[in-house]
Amino acid sequence: MTLLNPLPCEQRSVVVIGAGPSGAIAATLLKRQGHDVLIVERQRFPRFSIGESLLSHCLDFIEEAGMLAAVQAAGFQRKNGAAFACGEQYSAFDFRDKFTRGQDWTFQVQRADFDQLLAEQAQLQGVEIRFEESISAVDFSAARPVLTAQRSDGSQYQLQCDFVLDASGYGRVLPRLLDLEAPSDFPVRQALFSHVEDRISDPAFDREKILITTHPELRDVWFWTIPFSNGRCSVGVVAEATHFQGRPLDLQACLQEFIAQTPSLSGVLSNAVWDTPVQRIDGYSANVKSLHGPGFALLGNAAEFLDPVFSSGVTIAMCSASMAAAVLDRQLRGEPVDWQSEFAAPLMRGVDTFRAYVEGWYDGSLQDVIYHQDGTPQIRQMISSILAGYAWDQRNPYVAEPKRRLRVLAELCARQ
Ligand code: FAD
Repeated sequence: MTLLNPLPCEQRSVVVIGAGPSGAIAATLLKRQGHDVLIVERQRFPRFSIGESLLSHCLDFIEEAGMLAAVQAAGFQRKNGAAFACGEQYSAFDFRDKFTRGQDWTFQVQRADFDQLLAEQAQLQGVEIRFEESISAVDFSAARPVLTAQRSDGSQYQLQCDFVLDASGYGRVLPRLLDLEAPSDFPVRQALFSHVEDRISDPAFDREKILITTHPELRDVWFWTIPFSNGRCSVGVVAEATHFQGRPLDLQACLQEFIAQTPSLSGVLSNAVWDTPVQRIDGYSANVKSLHGPGFALLGNAAEFLDPVFSSGVTIAMCSASMAAAVLDRQLRGEPVDWQSEFAAPLMRGVDTFRAYVEGWYDGSLQDVIYHQDGTPQIRQMISSILAGYAWDQRNPYVAEPKRRLRVLAELCARQ
């Protein structure tokens, strides 16, 4: 019997799977604490990614990782709030007018450039990133986990480490390989999207806000319009699969048909040049049985992804990175830590706040609140805080008790 040559095995302290926002921030925070960190990234950067409208709270994590000056200097479109439109109704929330103190503004970013910038900033601070290498297998049976990495030429090697942070986004490496996948509570929705040269001439259009437009007849169908600083916009529609039945099979024709049925948006985009293929993504909402286990934790989309309507994905990804890096730093220093009470539970408090608002959006109650004209300024400030990403601020009553507060508010709005 011939024994196969064992794969070469490299010893590291922390291996991060994926160099998206959660991976880049987590790795940099750990490196700044003096730990050995390696990121293994499947793709070559820059690469396209969806998720272009950031929330203000993101800037706190970018600052914590020492990357704020570079992000500010990169020329991305500034964003100071979120605007909502449905027929004749229009409602804008300004992040400068919010309950929670914190960042008043943020950016709308082409993710290819943004993610590359974060990765470069991580490298500048000493993080090693191996691009075009993929984690294909994991073994958590020994005291220290062993990962199998595959290079683009097909060759393989192993990485043994103290801890693995899975920041693989939709790759969901550990949930898949460790049987941690759990169904999402949300129905399967699809998104069609593209970048256009927008040629928006309407002076009332606010390039410093994401515009969320509701379809006039289908209340659960909505569009995003995210202006960039170079005269282009990201445009997309989100709907359940049933709403795509009977529509054009061609993705661009289908997206344009949805927009044509929505006069307040088709007017805004009437001069747009559709110069980029429309893409489709579906079934993106995902969940897991646990956010951590012996030797690993899940970050960002590798853990749970709710829904794009409040642009919360990158904020949750970065918040998970910040929380996990703090716990792991202490663990690597030999301190006792409890990942459930110090990472999973506090992270989920903010995620569950967003969850309540996503549910309220699709059942219509939050839309009633958003478009209600006589809302008190204090309540709008509390909602503005959540839209700015401060979904972990328990002093905000709409964070502390999101479901109950939102239900009461929606009933009040409906009565007036
Ligand atoms: P990612 O950014 O997905 O990065 C994961 C990285 O891991 C990738 O680079 C990938 O190549 C790498 N990887 C995967 N598998 C492996 C492997 N086996 N080995 C090594 N590397 C691997 N969020 C917002 O904040 N604002 C928005 O406006 C917004 N809009 C959205 C619209 C839609 C339709 C959808 C579906 C999502 C949207 N999101 C938005 C969510 C956003 O896309 C994600 O939440 C965010 O990108 C998550 O970051 P991440 O770091 O967890 O993962």
